[in-house]
Amino acid sequence: MMEKHQFKAESQRLLDLMINSIYTNREIFLREIISNASDAIDKLAYTALTDDKVGIAREDFAITITRDEDLKTLTVSDNGIGMSREELEENLGTIAKSGSLGFKQAMEKQEDIDIIGQFGVGFYSAFMVASSITVITKKYGEDKAWKWVSNGADGYTIEETTKESAGTDIIMTLKEDTEDDKYSDFLQEFQIRNLIRKYSDYIRYPIKMEVTKSRKKDGSEEYESYTEAETLNSMVPIWQRAKKDVTEEEYNSFYQDKFFDFTSPLRTIHTSAEGTVSYKALLYVPGKAPYDFYTNEFKRGLQLYSSGVMIMESCEDLLPEHFCFVRGVVDSQDLSLNISREMLQKNRQLTVIARNIEKKIKSELKNMLENDREKYEEFFAAFGRQLKYGAVSEYGIHKDATQDLLLFYSHKQGKLVSLKEYVEAMPEGQEKIYFVPGENKDHLRKLPQVETLSKKGYDTLLFTEDVDEFVAQSLMTYMEKSFCNASSEDLGLQTEEEKKEAEAKAEELKGFLTFVKETLGEQVKEVKLSSNLGSHPVCMSPEAGMSFEMEKYMKRMTPEYNFSVGRILELNADHEAVQAMQKAMTEDPIKAKDYAQLLCYQAQLMAQLPLEDPYAYTELVCKLMK
Ligand code: ADP
Repeated sequence: MMEKHQFKAESQRLLDLMINSIYTNREIFLREIISNASDAIDKLAYTALTDDKVGIAREDFAITITRDEDLKTLTVSDNGIGMSREELEENLGTIAKSGSLGFKQAMEKQEDIDIIGQFGVGFYSAFMVASSITVITKKYGEDKAWKWVSNGADGYTIEETTKESAGTDIIMTLKEDTEDDKYSDFLQEFQIRNLIRKYSDYIRYPIKMEVTKSRKKDGSEEYESYTEAETLNSMVPIWQRAKKDVTEEEYNSFYQDKFFDFTSPLRTIHTSAEGTVSYKALLYVPGKAPYDFYTNEFKRGLQLYSSGVMIMESCEDLLPEHFCFVRGVVDSQDLSLNISREMLQKNRQLTVIARNIEKKIKSELKNMLENDREKYEEFFAAFGRQLKYGAVSEYGIHKDATQDLLLFYSHKQGKLVSLKEYVEAMPEGQEKIYFVPGENKDHLRKLPQVETLSKKGYDTLLFTEDVDEFVAQSLMTYMEKSFCNASSEDLGLQTEEEKKEAEAKAEELKGFLTFVKETLGEQVKEVKLSSNLGSHPVCMSPEAGMSFEMEKYMKRMTPEYNFSVGRILELNADHEAVQAMQKAMTEDPIKAKDYAQLLCYQAQLMAQLPLEDPYAYTELVCKLMK
């Protein structure tokens, strides 16, 4: 029985776009259909490794193109995995799938129709040239075969049919020629040959077509024509070719096609190794993070091939977490084809390859950092956070792989710098790498400690991402310089003499400091003097080893713990406001207490800490003004 179905709404929009397309690059439809056929064969070839019943030898897998000039049909057949009825419906009835997502988003933004060529828009692109498409398919291991027919506009029909063996035929009835568009060109032998060369040469299965040839008749000078099946593609995958023979365009279009990105990669890494373990790898650093990159949905890993057979779609073990943004393929004949996926994890060769790949990626990124800064910053904007996570994860065991690649914002230079650049620019006498954590740069720039450091010609890194502080904690030192959180730790700027002087001063003002502490009670953990405050009277700093950013972070992540960081009120004894408070302590203790509370509020505001009771603050200000 034949059933009629409508396309899902988005699919319908895309179809309309395809059908009415005036896009000049329509020819890509063939690449898309062939690429699907190749994927389907990959799946059955993989099954065949462990399932004798498949009964197709590796060399017998093929894609066949058939032309019928009378019926105006172009057919692409494969002996791959085929589709069940449910799969037909799921795959060809809806388009909200990963590969087409970028396209969908672009469509929603009503971008130009030129986008078509930039996406792996897949099966639907055939409607740019076909007025109707019939799919006949039989899934491997099932008895029934199915026929799916659609002219795009009115949905599709599905009915049962017969087909001898597993696989899929895509039968495209080409549109009628018009004055401007000669769809029948796509039935021309030479045209198809060119398209295969241009777009599908690397497909690893033979793409066969009956072609017309001529030969001399036996014993005569006359020629006769005959037809013969010919393989149109060279079947050499792009990563097996010599670097010098592959153009940038080919690298890019392979990337876009395979990894569903419509932008070009920032960097292409084509590398190989011979020796204990031989392999070829073609890796790409994308220009932007995929929409699901920072979610659990994201699947990291490289495609793994062994002697031309794909054995894993995304092999996680080939790629460390901190470089998980890299996409690509690895092909090694040293891996046994019959290896199970579980065994693969413990495979020694695989570990060696993974280690080499990690080194290679690191050196390529470093090279980009040193020689193509603009590109590197673009990369860092997309994936810098991932590198930082890498430096922090597993107690910092990956820091060697990542620390040289990190960038932070330099207060002094007003731009991103690497840690190496920071250390190399340190003036004589500077011993530490100073940073301040906080939410925004403008606020951090104004911190008294930053001002103090600046006066000495010392730079401060402004840490505005949650993870930054954890990076400093996890690295501890870089080029033998230790990290110093300037907002909470001793800046180490005082000479022995100055220290002694400060101690004496603290001793002298002990009564005053105790008075302030007692006035503020639980609000602060400690009250002390500071010589780092520049022109400011007070500041609130976190207890040693902590930061308020961490407190905010922890409160967000685990609100149930009510994590809180001890507050230390630092006073600038040379400041008039502090001196006024000190004077009031003996003359008018009640006023002195109000001053202490007011300065405490101010310190909290400057540290961007919320006031528990803003009304008390306003009342206090009004009281003092009266
Ligand atoms: P994409 O290839 O980006 O997933 P397509 O629209 O080209 O999107 O195809 C949708 C799905 O239909 C494929 O993912 C695949 O599961 C299935 N499909 C398409 N062509 C074939 C084929 N020749 N054999 C088996 N399955 C196919």
